Amino acid sequence: MHIKKQRLLTPGPTPLLPKALHAMMASDMHHRTQDFQKLYRQVLADLKEVFGTSNDVLPLVSSGSGAMEASISNLFRRGDKVIVCTAGKFGERWVAMTKAFGLNSMVLEAPYGDTVGPARVAEALAANPDARGVFIQASETSTGAAHDIRAMGEIIKKTPAIFIIDAITGLGTMPLDIDNWGLDVLIGGSQKAFMIPPGLGFISVSPKAWELGKNCDLPHFYFDLKKELKSARNGESSWTPAVSLIISLAEALKYVKELGMNRLIENAQLLAKATRAAVTAMGLELFSPASPAASVTAVKAPAGMDSGVIVKGFRNEFGMIIANGQGSMKGQIFRIAHLGYFDFADLFAVIGALELILNANGFATPYGKGVAAVQTVYAEAAFAKETVGA
Ligand SMILES: *Cc1c(COP(=O)(O)O)cnc(C)c1O
Repeated sequence: MHIKKQRLLTPGPTPLLPKALHAMMASDMHHRTQDFQKLYRQVLADLKEVFGTSNDVLPLVSSGSGAMEASISNLFRRGDKVIVCTAGKFGERWVAMTKAFGLNSMVLEAPYGDTVGPARVAEALAANPDARGVFIQASETSTGAAHDIRAMGEIIKKTPAIFIIDAITGLGTMPLDIDNWGLDVLIGGSQKAFMIPPGLGFISVSPKAWELGKNCDLPHFYFDLKKELKSARNGESSWTPAVSLIISLAEALKYVKELGMNRLIENAQLLAKATRAAVTAMGLELFSPASPAASVTAVKAPAGMDSGVIVKGFRNEFGMIIANGQGSMKGQIFRIAHLGYFDFADLFAVIGALELILNANGFATPYGKGVAAVQTVYAEAAFAKETVGA
């Protein structure tokens, strides 16, 4: 119809929290003032709380990939043997990055839509007791699959290797008990469940990881975690921070703290569950049915239909921006995001629109069938007893 509100519905960037967006109006703040230091200290404390860890958590001025890079360049030595798990485009980024820094990367690969099982990691560690690290994605955003981080953490904990997790879409969508599961380095990004624009990466570092980092011989300068830690202890960042994003982050963290991280996670998990129910009710297939992530649901386009037709339909008919597949998955799948500031009203609209788009393009599915599946999941969760623990 004639008015189309633009809706950003991708798994990063995600919809912005209005309060966090409005807070950016106060960006005319100097970063070496007491006002900023106070704000920065609050952000550092809130980040720790939201990550749920006693480890150091540092913000970096970069997208998530910068924090990924920092975890390599600050902790390892050239030629270090590492195990790199890959099940999609972001896993491939770990492979390329570790190789770019001269690490000796042993790659454990799973086909797109699948995951690397904990047993394979255990096997690889047993065969390579000199491995210094294990790299993985908590949630592989390109395929909509989630890894069993807890089981892997228990295995890696008992070895000298450190566990490095790209949790950029895992944070806020799945439980990640950093301290108890042995998650040595955990990485997040601002434009995902943190509900603010792109431009900040986050990294938590365990004592075991700091210890390994003492022997690091890889060049690094801008991303210097030790320097950043020292600055953070003074309520400062090493370089000029992205002041506007830090201000925005402060609001978003306040919101997440008030909501509770467990509720943010449950929210994504319920939306993901409802989405899976809806698309299967409509006769579509999931791309990662065995271990679907709560961050994003990847759905196969109907046979004979390019998923780009669906993505375009969302944009042209409804002003909704949803994600196509990446790389070789482009044209095969489309992805519906749940991480961060998404609610059931968004999902009713997405599934209602999807039913219209599919019918308009020759895939017959009765109107309302997918929407009813979402309503059912909502009713079960909302009208049942309070399910979130105290
Ligand atoms: C978004 C994302 C990244 C980071 O990408 P940037 O563009 O650098 O922010 C890394 N890993 C995963 C799993 C992601 O979803």
